[in-house]
Amino acid sequence: MTDYKRILVTAALPYANGPVHIGHLAGCYLPADIYVRYQRAKKRDIKFVCGSDEHGVPITIRAMKVGITPQQVVDKYHELIKESFAQMNISFDIYSRTSSKMHHQTASDFFTKLYNDGLFEEKETEQYYDEKAKTFLADRYIIGTCPVCGNPRAFGDQCENCGSSLSPEMLIDPRSALSEATPIKRKTRHWYFPLQHYEAWLKEWILEDHKEWKNNVYGQCKSWLDNGLQARAMTRDSNWGIKVPLPDSEGKVLYVWFDAPIGYISATKELTAEWSDYWCKEDTKLVHFIGKDNIVFHCIIFPAMLKAHGNFVLPDNVPANEFLNIEGEKVSTSRNWAVWIDEYVKDFPGCEDALRYVLCANAPETKDNDFTWKDFQDRNNSELVAIFGNFVNRTFVLMHKLCNSKVPPLHIGILDETDNELIRNIQVSALKVQDSIEGYKFRDALFEVIDLARKGNKYLQEKEPWKKASGIERLSVSRNTEGSKLTAHSPQHEIDNCLHLCLQLTANLAILINPFLPATAKKMLHLMKVVDKMLEWENAGKMKLLSIGYSLRAPELLFRKIENEEITAQIEKLKTGLVKTETSTYMATAGDKETVTNQGSGKSTIQYEDFAKLDLRAGTILAAEKIEKADKLLKLEIDLGFEKRIIISGIALHFKPEDIIGKQVVVVANLAPRKMRGIESNGMILMAENKEGKLYFIKPDDVIDNGSLVS
Ligand SMILES: [Zn+2]
Repeated sequence: MTDYKRILVTAALPYANGPVHIGHLAGCYLPADIYVRYQRAKKRDIKFVCGSDEHGVPITIRAMKVGITPQQVVDKYHELIKESFAQMNISFDIYSRTSSKMHHQTASDFFTKLYNDGLFEEKETEQYYDEKAKTFLADRYIIGTCPVCGNPRAFGDQCENCGSSLSPEMLIDPRSALSEATPIKRKTRHWYFPLQHYEAWLKEWILEDHKEWKNNVYGQCKSWLDNGLQARAMTRDSNWGIKVPLPDSEGKVLYVWFDAPIGYISATKELTAEWSDYWCKEDTKLVHFIGKDNIVFHCIIFPAMLKAHGNFVLPDNVPANEFLNIEGEKVSTSRNWAVWIDEYVKDFPGCEDALRYVLCANAPETKDNDFTWKDFQDRNNSELVAIFGNFVNRTFVLMHKLCNSKVPPLHIGILDETDNELIRNIQVSALKVQDSIEGYKFRDALFEVIDLARKGNKYLQEKEPWKKASGIERLSVSRNTEGSKLTAHSPQHEIDNCLHLCLQLTANLAILINPFLPATAKKMLHLMKVVDKMLEWENAGKMKLLSIGYSLRAPELLFRKIENEEITAQIEKLKTGLVKTETSTYMATAGDKETVTNQGSGKSTIQYEDFAKLDLRAGTILAAEKIEKADKLLKLEIDLGFEKRIIISGIALHFKPEDIIGKQVVVVANLAPRKMRGIESNGMILMAENKEGKLYFIKPDDVIDNGSLVS
């Protein structure tokens, strides 16, 4: 439906198990906020809801490990997350939480309705149980040795060392992550939601009726639907969560992915008495902003639940983003490879808009993207400061110097083609920004705003009002001596026109940048001495936003430069945090050091078949160079006879690049490719390490053909 009367925007409920990082922000909260701020400026009826997701097993585990209650865990993180969002100016109408009474009631009623309509299937199955901790174990909480690579701390669903998908049955020596007890199987009864009954409907609703959804979203839905849907348990064995509202169901709660999306409904109920207008009326446009890991829940499971319930509208769009990596590596909260919002706002006070800018300009809208501190600095200094901030500042400085600190008049008769082109550009940009935001293309929209500021700088450069000012001085001198008069086409008139247009452009820039950088728009309003109302979108493209003769404030810088030392400190912090946590985790393969070490203990015996899986080859180092910002890594080009490979090796602290060119080495040629610092590494060089930590190449004792098999 295109003719909607109101919009309801939801942003994925963050899990109250830790603070939020920039990946979260770039993934859904920032795009949602931009969209909402724009719609508010359009004066549309819109509500923006979110809240903390406070149920689920990881929270009970965290509580158990720290020795506090689950409630204490969620209380702590709910407050921290809420504050981080407020600091970044994410403008929720409500930030609620799923432990609220309202939510428990809403989710419970939802379940009961589906149950009473006979839509669940009740099934008894066997599941893993920890007798010591007295709890059923999700696959993630069973650990053991990986049958593929021998990693002694592989999870029951996946080995994070080799990436293999696993099931608890495949683990060697499986044990509970909670108590180390050997899991046993125990019978348990649960309620399943038969997704397969909704498959045909979902296929039509998504694959036929929502072809406009983003490619990454549509593609993931299609793949789920093509593989066929199955019944999913909507309840779990736990004491933390929303109790199953049925008799004889002690110790059972709603599955966290059943209750969390219902949290959007509960939050709306808490926000407004008219909540049902937003959830039950067909002329509502419901938009879910999420990250790609939530696509199946928001596009398939939750819509099927809403459809089954029958009273609610379905999402009009689910503009999910991909992931934001950091310095070439995936964000990992357990390894502390992340940029945390609560730390950013302490380290860069007053620079919230700089982060919003970079995260939007570099948003992972269509594919995974990389955040680097260097790029953060570059974009801040060369785009925000040097283009946008510079234009506004020059305009204000010149206006004070050449126009008496007031908005100068416009002399229409002498407008030239350059002036008219600037006016057209303002109008065209306003429309382009609007279309891009409506189409969830926030990067394009932001680029357009910066480009308009760039055009403003170009215009000033062409007009050079400061040069014309010196012309006036000459003119007044000549008038004194010869008594001549200023003509209508005087240099001051040209100066007036130039700065009049630049000031109207400044006002337009404030309107256009407002959804993206709200604090900056506010500062601009202050400089121009105008009220919030000017930021309404209907003013975008207009040329009479500032009245002639109106006096404006003295210039103030909108942004500050980010210095090299600040960037170095952040990169250092990232690495130190990583080292601190890595000592406490297993072989996390930071990628910074790839050496084969075997201290004669800690690794289990393998069979010949395991060894035979390795494709070891002789090769020669053709080229070696350091990698910027990674002091331990060398980028090597290796000749393997049958092909040349790029391999990243963590040996830069041990060897100078020029010393190892031409050396013959042994390469693990069939190692899965891995990206480090944005470069794909295809293999690994075998090294030996002595007791002092010195590294040695493993190589044939005579030069042999590159590509020769080692076995
Ligand atoms: Zn493995």
